[in-house]
Amino acid sequence: MHIKVLGAAAGIGHPHHTTSFLIDDNTLIDCGTGVTSLRADEMLSIRQVLLTHSHADHCGCLPLLADVHASHHGPGLTVYSQQETLDALRAHLFNGELWPDYTRQPSAEQPWLRLQAVEPGYALPLGEGLATALPANHSVPALGWLIEGSWRALAFSGDSGPCPAFWQWVSNVPSLTDVICELTYTDERQAEAARQGHMTPALLLPFLPQLPANTHLWISHIDPGCREHMLEQLHSEYPNGLRVCPLREGMLIEL
Ligand SMILES: [Zn+2]
Ligand SMILES: [Zn+2]
Repeated sequence: MHIKVLGAAAGIGHPHHTTSFLIDDNTLIDCGTGVTSLRADEMLSIRQVLLTHSHADHCGCLPLLADVHASHHGPGLTVYSQQETLDALRAHLFNGELWPDYTRQPSAEQPWLRLQAVEPGYALPLGEGLATALPANHSVPALGWLIEGSWRALAFSGDSGPCPAFWQWVSNVPSLTDVICELTYTDERQAEAARQGHMTPALLLPFLPQLPANTHLWISHIDPGCREHMLEQLHSEYPNGLRVCPLREGMLIEL
């Protein structure tokens, strides 16, 4: 099982793209602008999207991806997310005004875009592995995702401020080797982070002792405007020996 990073930033501007990870060619975690780097035939291989939440940097390319399936008569997609998130997609994206309602086209029985409501704990078979929805704490209803391969497991926080339930959950996964955690703002913007449900280095620090030794910590969703300062803060505040690395577009993580 492999995970390719298509987008890992909180905003756009070359070379950065917003959140989207491709798992084994047929599953996406989130559908941000990273998806635009795929060819149409690669988009047609995607059968499901594990969506963390309704913000446009995570679902903004979903209408265009569904359109590729519709225009090429592809197999269509299933989106897994919380009911509130699916309701927001119906009301604000696929409403016949911003975009065709692909949740009812070409027919209500077999639409291009199928919506499946899930809650934390919902587990979905994924090739030889498993995807499980995890709790998150954001300004709108949100999920994280746990991806378990044959030998290793990766947890993704999605967009989330401090969420003890997420860290409790992942600390009990014996095969956990990798965590992708969002760090949107530097510590100077902690009030903004708290208001919006995001992390800063100081907010994340108390949770790190819960991770198994040698866990690889990947940082995503850095605000492009403070990337350099964020990396300086990580180096100065975080313990020596912690395996922490900013996630970049094009990286491949093998599970
Ligand atoms: Zn968000
Ligand atoms: Zn975001």
